[in-house]
Amino acid sequence: TPRQAAIQAIATTEYDLNQIDFRTAHLKELFGTLVFSEEVQKQRLPKPVFKALQKTIKQGAQLTDPAVADAVASAMKDWAIEHGATHFTHLFQPMTGLTAEKHDSFLAPTGTGSAVSEFSGKELVKGEPDASSFPSGGIRATFEARGYTGWDPTSPAYIREAPNGATLVIPTVFVSWTGEALDKKTPLLRSMEALSQQAIRIVKLFGNTEAKKVFTTVGPEQEYFLIDKNFLYARPDLLNCGRTLFGAKPAKGQELEDQYFGTIPERVLACMAECEAEMFKLGIPVKTRHNEVAPSQYEIAPIFEDSNLATDHNQLTMDVMRRTAEKYGLVCLLHEKPFAGINGSGKHNNWSMSTDTGENLLNPGDTPHDNAQFLVFCVAVIRAVAKYPELLRVSVASAGNDHRLGANEAPPAIISIFLGAQLQDIMEQLEKGKPEKTIPGGFMEVGASVLPKLPRDAGDRNRTSPFAFTGNKFEFRAVGSSFSIGGPNTVLNTIVSESIDFIATALEKAVGDDKSEARLNKAIQDLLPGILKESKKVVFNGDGYSDEWHKEAEKRGLPNLKNTVDALPVIVRKDAVELFTKYKVFTERELTSRYNIFSEKYVKEVTIEANTMVSMAKTLILPAALRYQGEVATAVNATKAAGVDAGAQLDHLKELTATIAKFQAATADLDHAVNHKHSGDPYADAKATRDTVLPKMVELRTLGDKLETIVADDLWPLPTYREMLFIK
Ligand code: ADP
Ligand code: MG
Repeated sequence: TPRQAAIQAIATTEYDLNQIDFRTAHLKELFGTLVFSEEVQKQRLPKPVFKALQKTIKQGAQLTDPAVADAVASAMKDWAIEHGATHFTHLFQPMTGLTAEKHDSFLAPTGTGSAVSEFSGKELVKGEPDASSFPSGGIRATFEARGYTGWDPTSPAYIREAPNGATLVIPTVFVSWTGEALDKKTPLLRSMEALSQQAIRIVKLFGNTEAKKVFTTVGPEQEYFLIDKNFLYARPDLLNCGRTLFGAKPAKGQELEDQYFGTIPERVLACMAECEAEMFKLGIPVKTRHNEVAPSQYEIAPIFEDSNLATDHNQLTMDVMRRTAEKYGLVCLLHEKPFAGINGSGKHNNWSMSTDTGENLLNPGDTPHDNAQFLVFCVAVIRAVAKYPELLRVSVASAGNDHRLGANEAPPAIISIFLGAQLQDIMEQLEKGKPEKTIPGGFMEVGASVLPKLPRDAGDRNRTSPFAFTGNKFEFRAVGSSFSIGGPNTVLNTIVSESIDFIATALEKAVGDDKSEARLNKAIQDLLPGILKESKKVVFNGDGYSDEWHKEAEKRGLPNLKNTVDALPVIVRKDAVELFTKYKVFTERELTSRYNIFSEKYVKEVTIEANTMVSMAKTLILPAALRYQGEVATAVNATKAAGVDAGAQLDHLKELTATIAKFQAATADLDHAVNHKHSGDPYADAKATRDTVLPKMVELRTLGDKLETIVADDLWPLPTYREMLFIK
């Protein structure tokens, strides 16, 4: 069977685990070597050009002088060619959630039989890929297919190495001929700008005149699975859908809790090390790696960066991991739920705001109770989450994440905030009046005097909360592992912009011309308690996995949008349209297009899964079950012929036959359900798919998994959970 072949191959292949050796390739020398970084720019660009470019990157000033773009392009090209580049590409992030690229050679024939290498400012700034085959959700009909890529100078260009050359990669936005966003980067940049404009008003009120801009910062913790690549070849579901659609529960899963932070297997560690080396070269500040809770599950996290760069880097991280895994005979599974019954994968989106002078606006300091600026920003975030929980919810909605959210390992679909004991206490004081004290962290009593004193954190951790304050940032934990973090951060930035705007407007009005600290403090004191009273329903410090919380949340009136189809209509709801258009993050048409795209994507993903299941059922599982049925029938006949009682064997045959019959019926049912005609209305189709196809998939899986536990092991064609998760 393909399964036996896979295991045989794994047992006999030797992998070169020494493809990167940090004893010779030193970290410091690797970092950023493939990036057209500030340092490279400084060395290679004429001073005025360098200054103009930096002004754009750091302050957001628009690049208007075409001569600047020409000079940058020329320097980029020379630098890239020195690194072996033959081509350049505009890399963009269409609504598929992946990245897209079309390569152009630097080569230009001279007309006299030779060629020169060329790269103009115009080519750097704008590209025109044929956009007709990307999802646009109705924004762009195929007859007006023009789409443009536009250089994003705030995300540095870099070199993508290939075994026999290299490509200069230029991060870009992707917009339609009418200027509408066809991608995930444009709205993110708009939302960062919205937040900066609002946040700087508060920063100014506090007398900070140096800061010109506020950046949102993000550090995404990325979870993923690595399993042997041979299993992929033997599992059409993994290959097509990134997750297993069949698979009986193994005797051992994650119940021993021996995997989390456990020793990293050697081949996996070698693969991680190479991934990290690649990422270092690309300037991605990777920081941590560890085993996650489920068998064969791992996590990688970088140091935070501004959200735009963090988003680009996370896309690149997923790409590097996928490609590098192959070199080690592994496959990197980024799906939210590759295996039923054990933990799925998410992406913890650590988020904060920082001035361009480097001040983290969510840093509470040692005595948060008298850190008025921190309290203002923190309350703004609480208000935003309380006011727009459904928008956060829909920003993490997908067919894949539906298998994870609300299961006993990931936060529930109910959005709430965890503040931790210290901050919770301060907010309670604030609600009643002026906060007077901070519960001190102090030191832990470990009880062994040889140990150094361990300072205690201000609050304990709560893994069950979808949105938690963790020291000096908020952590949005409901994001799926395969997501672009662009979407969730666009929403987060926008809802917080609105809150900050609300607070800034009230404070500015209250203080008027009185710039004194006392006046400002009084205005804050008058304003924040009311906001907290209104918003505190979203604060919850208990166990988010518990049934009690579901009941309590309902009492509090918190929305519980259980799945993607329930969540999607929020995108085009009146309050959402008002919010996003007010801050110029999405136009109404852009929102409608996303509503359509996400609906269509849901239908397509589930349809592909259902069709894959049907095909596996018919061509892999049923044939194995029938072979086994034949063997048992033969045995029963032989037993009878020998004159021995075959009662027990006959019962077994009967049960097997009945299960096979049910399995065949369920296959036909699913086949029928998935192949009904679609209405053409994307949302109606999504709803129909959820209600008619998903339940049939569950039925078929249950029967298939039952057969796996009955059919003779040597006839079973699919690698089992035991094998995929534990053969390393
Ligand atoms: P933990 O969640 O385990 O406390 P860390 O402190 O290591 O973990 O942080 C997890 C992630 O949060 C890292 O990617 C880290 O860089 C990021 N992070 C830390 N500070 C900020 C910040 N101010 N803004 C955004 N992300 C941050
Ligand atoms: Mg964390």
